[in-house]
Amino acid sequence: MTNAGLKVLLLEDGPLKSSDSFADMEEARAWNDLYQESGSRGTKDGAIAIFQGRSVGGTTVVNWTSSFRTPENTLRHWGKQHGVEGVDPESMAPWFAKMEERLNIHRWPVPPNPNNNALAKGCETLGWEWDIVPRNVKGCWNIGYCGQGCPSNAKQSMLVTTIPAALEKGATLVHNARVNKVLHQGDRVTALQVQGIGEDNRHPNGTLFTVKARRYILAAGAINSPALLLHSDAPDPSGLLGKRTFVHPVPVTIGQFNTPIEGWHGAPQSTYSDEFVWRDGVAGKMGYKMEIAPMHPGLMSAALGGFGETLFERVGGLKNASCNLALMRDGFNEQNQGASISVDNNGYPIIDYAFNDYVWEGIKHALSSLTEAQFAAGATSVLAGHLNAQNWQSWAEAKKGLDELSYEAVKVTLFSAHLMGGCQLGRNENEAVCDSQGNLLRA
Ligand SMILES: Cc1cc2nc3c(=O)[nH]c(=O)nc-3n(C[C@H](O)[C@H](O)[C@H](O)COP(=O)(O)OP(=O)(O)OC[C@H]3O[C@@H](n4cnc5c(N)ncnc54)[C@H](O)[C@@H]3O)c2cc1C
Ligand code: SF4
Repeated sequence: MTNAGLKVLLLEDGPLKSSDSFADMEEARAWNDLYQESGSRGTKDGAIAIFQGRSVGGTTVVNWTSSFRTPENTLRHWGKQHGVEGVDPESMAPWFAKMEERLNIHRWPVPPNPNNNALAKGCETLGWEWDIVPRNVKGCWNIGYCGQGCPSNAKQSMLVTTIPAALEKGATLVHNARVNKVLHQGDRVTALQVQGIGEDNRHPNGTLFTVKARRYILAAGAINSPALLLHSDAPDPSGLLGKRTFVHPVPVTIGQFNTPIEGWHGAPQSTYSDEFVWRDGVAGKMGYKMEIAPMHPGLMSAALGGFGETLFERVGGLKNASCNLALMRDGFNEQNQGASISVDNNGYPIIDYAFNDYVWEGIKHALSSLTEAQFAAGATSVLAGHLNAQNWQSWAEAKKGLDELSYEAVKVTLFSAHLMGGCQLGRNENEAVCDSQGNLLRA
């Protein structure tokens, strides 16, 4: 927009943080400074922990740098099933290429760390496809702390790419500024009501101001965008505002190995497997992408589950542990409508994910593949992310154990770091919230 000569004002709820403040590589500091609700965001039943960024640069400041193009099957599904125009693979190709150039996206040339190598080895042994992750990095030191903010500015996040480029061209950035309401008359936006956020970077400091512009672009993520519109009583002719919010629910397994893994060093994600992504066609049974999670103790203590002595013992085994994860491909089948977002009186989002047999069947299948891959890679035991799971000593024992577990909310450990939808694109105001260009549809 600044390239087109427009005057741009960026409003960000979170603080402005940069590589200097990431130098300690501390999880506790990062959760507090860089994540929504200090990392404690989750669905209302507590079943899915939701990680999302909250600082200038958004979630790209904390993400793990895996930079894939949207799969062609997905683009075609959006066009065919939801009538979204201009997202066919051919039309999107130049846009992807442009972003790949701007963000220096390329296959990671450094050998994977032992954590990622375990996934590659497991897939290799089982004859499953796997490949190397493309990453958006320039001069990466391979230290592995992307989730805490990159201390070397190697990660090509919005914080070091698009935002400074816009500022150089005259854009203005106001951080610690929360848009509290979109003021409107009928379906025309008249102004934004903005709250200043205090020095604690979290609570409103009592400052209120309004912003008027010729055009408004809402890009607060798939949870906060619909929440803000709902809190503002925005027109919602389809009744879909906040519905069909998808989160790629993530189940995990932790494998113990005889050799050191030390999964806190090295690029957090450098191998992946798409063996089961389209396992039953695009709209069939739920498929999943398999990847690796970095092994920092804060994140892992949540993944390992258990309390007191049990958790202490499990965290003690982190040095030799590897964590497999599956990104469940939600939202392609009618039986899976994802989460719906509503708001409390203060406008804070409430996230409600609809589980059913379709979802649990997919998650059980994923836990089985993650476990099998770890035993195939040489794990001596595997712990599935489930309240009632015990360390299984062999694949045969694990198969039996997986059948005996009950699959229900809260019992299965689930994360999400990928938030999508909430303001669905589509054909018209009866079927969607926005048109194919992202304009709010009016009745
Ligand atoms: C730990 C982690 C690892 C990840 N790893 C990967 C990866 O390797 N590869 C990948 O493709 N994806 C990854 N993701 C996901 C990816 O980074 C996000 O999906 C993506 O950045 C979301 O972009 P967005 O623009 O939708 O929202 P965001 O980047 O979340 O930006 C929204 C911004 O709006 C601000 N905001 C919200 N409400 C308001 C308000 N009312 N007023 C003002 N500002 C507001 C927020 O603070 C935030 O900064 C990861 C995510 C996490 C959390
Ligand atoms: S692995 Fe690379 S991109 Fe990630 S934090 Fe370290 S230097 Fe930055």
